[in-house]
Amino acid sequence: MSIDLQSYAQLLVCPACQSKLVVDGHIFVCCAEPCRLKYEVKDDIPVMLSDEAQPIAPEEWAAIMQRATPVNL
Ligand SMILES: [Zn+2]
Repeated sequence: MSIDLQSYAQLLVCPACQSKLVVDGHIFVCCAEPCRLKYEVKDDIPVMLSDEAQPIAPEEWAAIMQRATPVNL
């Protein structure tokens, strides 16, 4: 049994800044531009630990925000 990632993204917020998340392939990405943390998904469970999250480059983040479907809209 697995919950699809889009459903997780609607339930969760970025633990670092409480912003919304988008799904990009198999990662979750924070929607807040100053934050830009990405969260890995392991065994279908998102790892929502800001300690383990890595910020992504501004250009990559912008590209993800453009192609990602925002949740809760
Ligand atoms: Zn964030």
